[in-house]
Formats: sequence, structure tokens, C-alpha cells
Amino acid sequence: MESSPPLSSPPLCVHKIEAAIKISWSDANPATRYYGCSLGPDGRCAFFQWIDARPTILQRNYIAKLKRERDEAREQLRIQTCLARQAKEEEEEAWGKAGDMTVLNHELEEELAALKSRRWWLEKMVTLAMLLLILLIVIVG
Ligand SMILES: [Zn+2]
Repeated sequence: MESSPPLSSPPLCVHKIEAAIKISWSDANPATRYYGCSLGPDGRCAFFQWIDARPTILQRNYIAKLKRERDEAREQLRIQTCLARQAKEEEEEAWGKAGDMTVLNHELEEELAALKSRRWWLEKMVTLAMLLLILLIVIVG
């Protein structure tokens, strides 16, 4: 196990600039700080120096367990989000159908009112025809 240098004085990298503190999340060295070149991926040099002691097997196993639990929690969250979205879509569809039913109901009520009105006129016409028939029988007979 390497021991850590004080954090107050970062070492200089190959570029002679202060190295940046980074954190390794590899399976072999999870949650372990190290110094690396502070330049971006294109200009960075190969400078590398551990800050923290390398993790023990116990620490590695514990971090691996935490990563698995995190991944499971993410998957659960993904499933829950998916189910919530699905429920919302179904709710919107149901509201749409309810709206269609309201429109259909209104159309049927209008049709029914028109039919009632037509029946009222037909009844009047039948009555008038019968009166005319009776009058004709009276006149002719
Ligand atoms: Zn560098």
C-alpha cells in the first residue's frame, strides 16, 4: 500500500503544470484518488500518481456491492418511470374516449329531439286526414 502525499502541493505533470485530483472507479481501484494531467483528453500526458492507499479486498467488495445496488435502484427507477408514463398515456386515452362519448351523446339527444318533433307533426297530419275523411263521408253520404 502506497501512502498519500499531502494534498496541499499537487505534483507537476510532464507539461510542468499542477496535476489534477481525479477519482478512479475501476473494479480494481474503486473510489481511489490519484493525480493525473489536468489537460483535456486531446492534450493530456501520461502522468499518474496515486493519492489514496489502494483499496483492500474488503473495500473493493463493499464498493462493488454498492455499485450493484445502485444499478438495481436505477433499473427499478427506469421501470417505475416507464409504468408511470404508460399509466399517464392510458389516462389521457380514457379522457379522450370520455370526450368522444360526450359528443356522441349530444348528437343522439339532438337526433331524438328531431324524431319527437317529426312524430308530433305526423300525428297532427293523421288527425287532419281522419277529419277530412269524416267530412268527406258526411258530404258524400
Ligand atoms: Zn500533463
